[in-house]
Amino acid sequence: MYYIDVWVEHPLGLDAPLTYRCPFEHVEKGMRVTVSLNRQAVVGIVSNVNVKVPEGIDVKDVLSVLDEEPVINEELNELALWMAIDTLCDPILCYKTILPPVLKPQSSSQKAKIEKWLIAVEGEFELTLKQREIVDEILLSGEVLYSTVKSASIRDKLIEKGALRIEVREVTYRKSLKKGSESSLILSDAQRTVVDGIDLNETSVNCIFGATGSGKTEIYMRIADKVLTLGKQVILLVPEISLTPQMLDRFYKRFGDDIIVYHSHLTPQQRYIQYMRAKNQQASIAIGTRSAIFLPFENLGCIILDEEHDSSFKQDKAPFYHARDIAIHRGETFQCPVILGSATPAMETYARALKGVYRLFTLNQRITSDMAKVTLVDTRQLLRQRKNNELSEVLLEGIKSRLELKQQVILLLNRRGYMPILTCKQCDSVAMCPNCDVSLAYHKAGQKATCHVCGYTQIKLVCTACGSTQWQGSGFATQRLEEQLKTQFPSARILRMDADTTRKTDGHATLLNAFAKGEADILLGTQMIAKGLDIPNVTLVGILQGDAALGRPDYRSIENTFAMMVQAAGRSGRSTLGGEVIIQAFDVRHYAVQYARNQDYVSFFNHEMKYRHQGQYPPYTYLIAITVSDEDWDKARSLAVDVASRCRSDESFKTLGPADLGKIKGKFRFRIVCKGKDLVGMKSFVRQEIMPVKRKSGKTQISINVSPMGLQ
Ligand code: ADP
Ligand code: ZN
Ligand code: ZN
Repeated sequence: MYYIDVWVEHPLGLDAPLTYRCPFEHVEKGMRVTVSLNRQAVVGIVSNVNVKVPEGIDVKDVLSVLDEEPVINEELNELALWMAIDTLCDPILCYKTILPPVLKPQSSSQKAKIEKWLIAVEGEFELTLKQREIVDEILLSGEVLYSTVKSASIRDKLIEKGALRIEVREVTYRKSLKKGSESSLILSDAQRTVVDGIDLNETSVNCIFGATGSGKTEIYMRIADKVLTLGKQVILLVPEISLTPQMLDRFYKRFGDDIIVYHSHLTPQQRYIQYMRAKNQQASIAIGTRSAIFLPFENLGCIILDEEHDSSFKQDKAPFYHARDIAIHRGETFQCPVILGSATPAMETYARALKGVYRLFTLNQRITSDMAKVTLVDTRQLLRQRKNNELSEVLLEGIKSRLELKQQVILLLNRRGYMPILTCKQCDSVAMCPNCDVSLAYHKAGQKATCHVCGYTQIKLVCTACGSTQWQGSGFATQRLEEQLKTQFPSARILRMDADTTRKTDGHATLLNAFAKGEADILLGTQMIAKGLDIPNVTLVGILQGDAALGRPDYRSIENTFAMMVQAAGRSGRSTLGGEVIIQAFDVRHYAVQYARNQDYVSFFNHEMKYRHQGQYPPYTYLIAITVSDEDWDKARSLAVDVASRCRSDESFKTLGPADLGKIKGKFRFRIVCKGKDLVGMKSFVRQEIMPVKRKSGKTQISINVSPMGLQ
């Protein structure tokens, strides 16, 4: 009998593993076991074997051992513990984040799927002609899936005679053995500088700042090629897998089947299979979204983040990790380079590159075409002149001429629904969600009012103030834009892409493929269409309400607005057909709009840095956001006040708040922000002073987000 330490999930959190007595013969660190906690059987991860227990302490038994070998290797085990410290979160949550759903330690343990195989046995057997035929066929490959032999009677007979035997295995990936092909492109000088300049045997972080279409993807592929020659593996992270069909296509063409695709749209079983392919070294390139950063390659040679500024790389629940930080940590472990590519790098990234913390490579020009021409439309002026300020004449003209030329148009309007605001006709109150401090948006399809935060939906809306059922809608969102375009251009084929039309698993891919194949003339949609698309026939991109997000009280909203406009503009004119971009904005003189018009990231960066310096925001400082929430306003508020005063006791950083963030999904929220130059010091303060409060706070929740992506 011996004792082991196990990480388990405790409702209030645990910062140390618990000790159990182990009656089983074989247990290793990194295996999953079931143990009892609060009279319930829960799954945990073994953190240590053969630990000493002080005399006289009552220790419970391990109930069962779930694995025959560790599900997590040494490197990822170390990563989980590092991540727990880095993100101020419990180790067990980090294990859960790193492992695929099938292997996650949680109370109900899921199992990997199994399947039956038939194996041909060597030797002489007396067989009928038909039986011999089947055995010969199986002998060609030695084995087939049980279900491929259709006749049950022949199958049973062959098994009975000993010519075939059954083997039960876990379902694995079946290779179709497609080979890739070499690139015939000759790299430009700028591309060559990057490919030759990054030493694959050295730890480094490299920022590739290159306009859309400047040849970054080609660079990623060349570097991947070199990494594979060294016998190592590559992880390439992208913001949203279904938005990058063209990029995947190019990788498949180049590298054949040596690719793992990993993202959250996969079923748990599919994710497990891909995870095991990485673990068993059955592929060398992984392309995926945020969670692909944890794939268990054992000899990583390079990690690439494409569109590294994208907010999807930061997880929006605990552990609030950023894939960039994980990438840099793993890069250090494997002593390999990390590449951060973007046309609009995050302010932090570019600032570090300028300081020499990261290496900077700049690609100034598009490879095959010039940057698109940008026109600004002042919608404030149109409003004054009582003209259509949502769909300006300039934009309508632009669309018309593209339709005549049989070219394609992308329109970006970052607001879904029909009209975002409903006002009571009798008393002028705005229809609000009962669970959130958010106004209900009107959706014409289904004639319903919906909350975009919690999904609350009401068909017959009654005014809570006066009881009236008469409503007046206002504002302009994607469904209404679609309707107006249909009236203006009755023969145009229009696709709308927003959260309402892409609910199905591969909704994005279906719409994008249709548009890429030329099955529609106009693609309109929310921010999701601004990313990644590379369609040669698109010669006009229209951005509606381009500066709408500038009004948000968040220091990062200007950066986000600028990046969104530049990224969307980058979808236009990617071929020799040339391209145009029309940005409609209310405040055309705002520097974000002006620099976006000139596609001038560097000037934008310099301007924005002054503003960040004045307000002492990142990258000049670091932030930790602490959010307290409860269904009860008083409880949330009083704990928030308590947390804030604890934070204020340390004067080495500034404490802001608590700020009332209003109600979301039935919970009142207050946020305290710690802001300072010494992130390590701030983290250790929060770990020592605030985490114990969190563990004791009961139903009032405290969430801690180190380096939040913004303060919305
Ligand atoms: P990015 O990833 O920066 O948007 P891509 O790598 O997709 O840029 O390149 C844009 C286009 O230019 C693609 O169609 C690509 O095939 C082409 N391209 C890239 N590098 C070269 C090159 N060296 N010579 C010719 N064409 C190139
Ligand atoms: Zn009313
Ligand atoms: Zn709501």
